[in-house]
Amino acid sequence: MLFNIVASDSEKLYEKENPTYDEIIRFIKDQMNIVSPLLTYIDDDGKSYYVNCTNDTNEIRKRLSIIKKVNLYITLQSWTCAFCTYEENTEEKCEVCGQMKK
Ligand SMILES: [Zn+2]
Repeated sequence: MLFNIVASDSEKLYEKENPTYDEIIRFIKDQMNIVSPLLTYIDDDGKSYYVNCTNDTNEIRKRLSIIKKVNLYITLQSWTCAFCTYEENTEEKCEVCGQMKK
């Protein structure tokens, strides 16, 4: 299965036969430097689905027995700092107080 992982400013190909969700997330973190990606899959009818777990990627694989390349779109998921409660962090560190994500 070939994933074309699309972020706002870059795209990367990830090829693996039966990847787990964690493997995809790790690839995105290592190769694209994105910490908390939300993944979205859009089917042929233009309907979009969140991809949150390995069940979801298996589901996509079942639909795509013929087509092998899958676009996955990344939306950045922001997190709230436990120390200063700043809510819009997308990096590994809090943008306001510099605490690491917990
Ligand atoms: Zn903070």
